[in-house]
Amino acid sequence: SNPPYKTPVPEEYYKPDEHIYQPDRKANATFVMLVRNSDLPGIMSSMKQVEDRFNRKFQYPYVFLNDEAFTQNFKDNIQALTTAQVEFGIIPSDHWHQPSSIDEERASKSREDMVRNNVIYGGSVPYRNMCRFNSGFFYRHELVQKYRYYWRVEPDVSFFCDVDYDPFLVMQDQNKVYGFTISLYEYQATIETLWGHVKSFINANPDLVSPENAMEFLSDDGGESYNLCHFWSNFEIGDLDFWRGEAYSKFFDYLDEQGGFYYERWGDAPVHSIGAALFAKKDQIHFFNDIGYRHNPYQHCPQGGLHQKGRCWCDPTHNFDYEWYSCLNKYDKMFS
Ligand code: GDP
Ligand code: MN
Repeated sequence: SNPPYKTPVPEEYYKPDEHIYQPDRKANATFVMLVRNSDLPGIMSSMKQVEDRFNRKFQYPYVFLNDEAFTQNFKDNIQALTTAQVEFGIIPSDHWHQPSSIDEERASKSREDMVRNNVIYGGSVPYRNMCRFNSGFFYRHELVQKYRYYWRVEPDVSFFCDVDYDPFLVMQDQNKVYGFTISLYEYQATIETLWGHVKSFINANPDLVSPENAMEFLSDDGGESYNLCHFWSNFEIGDLDFWRGEAYSKFFDYLDEQGGFYYERWGDAPVHSIGAALFAKKDQIHFFNDIGYRHNPYQHCPQGGLHQKGRCWCDPTHNFDYEWYSCLNKYDKMFS
């Protein structure tokens, strides 16, 4: 027989999960995780929190995307974390790699300059592939095609609070297109010419710009210059059809033609944020104030009643919302 320390817990000690709720209504939505095989520990940590805090109840599916094939070990470990559907996809090569239209000499010179100037990820080609893919391709992937809404989750993030309602239904019912938890300033050195191209695009396509846009979030001088504010895209809950729509598609193609994903280091965060702010109505951009979230080095910790309601475990005094480097005040100001 077993030694005492190995006595198994008898089956009748286990309680059924009474919190599993059968939703009468669900959105057509999925989680999207872009990761490498080496991101397994970090994405398991993020996904376990998503499951415990939200998805154990709501059972939304997951799409995992990678520029290489996922290993069997990766898939087994991920599937073990959920009873929801999980799909694993490979990104088509031309959606990921530097296009042949890019002048590699010019691109590599710019990478060297950025390394010299200590620009974060300044020397990395894979990081640029990732930013371009997230800007203009993830929503076209065949596994993502069938969905209307997505929630982007990265490795090693924290979710501090219970999410006891369905944020996808909020997006759908309230006609929102983009949801965020943290906003901040971009590094100017990564987007030197981006705003000039944005202005050219607006001039050439004035009809695509929403009359009730959120330009005030992006610019302090009526659109003349970019104030560097953007929504932090490691957390996103969004409407895939918005990215697939005419305005954003033309916008992305225009930016892609300029080559700035490689000649500079344009991030998907400013590109998404500028797209959402210009082509949606400002009240279609939603601040998920009740979702406690951390991606190093910043966190959004819900305050007061929200902290209590969500049973959040973050320290409420540790909250990025109105720190000097946050742009949330500019978002607020649009609605005051
Ligand atoms: P940071 O948040 O800007 O520091 O960048 P991350 O390293 O977190 O990358 C952003 C997201 O893209 C994360 O979900 C990463 O797992 C993913 N990612 C970054 N580079 C690659 C890559 O080369 N291949 C794949 N498959 N995913 C990547
Ligand atoms: Mn990250």
